[in-house]
Amino acid sequence: MKSQKMIAVYPGFFDPFTVGHLNIVKRAASIFEEVVVLVASDSPKKAMFDFSDRIAMIREVLQSEKYIRVESFEGLLIDYMKKNGYQVIVRGLRTVSDYEYEFQMAQANRTMDEDVETLFLVTAPQYSHLSSTLIKEIARLGGDISKMVPLPVYNKMKKIKNP
Ligand code: ADP
Repeated sequence: MKSQKMIAVYPGFFDPFTVGHLNIVKRAASIFEEVVVLVASDSPKKAMFDFSDRIAMIREVLQSEKYIRVESFEGLLIDYMKKNGYQVIVRGLRTVSDYEYEFQMAQANRTMDEDVETLFLVTAPQYSHLSSTLIKEIARLGGDISKMVPLPVYNKMKKIKNP
């Protein structure tokens, strides 16, 4: 089955959204007609930012991007995809360990709905070391994260450290 418009969905927890995430979104937007950045509410990890903050920050980062929109979901990704008629999931790959996890997720999603495809974009080398977890740790220890996150995220993280 072909969708009329080529829309890619980029799901993630984005706690917080990094320049590595931004790079993947923009590259996806150069391939697809539209990209939906899809913010997940649930995470197995403890969050630094709550759901509404994560959504608000990403909206601010992407506000001037005409073909990128931000949506959010709770529950199973594949259910959200089906409900909205979305057929393509984009994920980023940094390392071999990312690959193992992503491969498992993609296979599980495929088992649940074989009309939904997962496509992977390999990280640009300058972002391959970046993860939300690492950035939170550097910020906690007082390091400079200004080149690792977009400005609205940086400002928000600064406020948390120095309220
Ligand atoms: P999740 O918690 O669902 O893995 P993340 O917010 O950590 O979500 O990441 C969302 C997606 O972005 C994942 O596919 C992840 O591999 C990818 N990603 C994260 N950081 C980078 C980066 N620096 N370069 C490329 N892809 C990345």
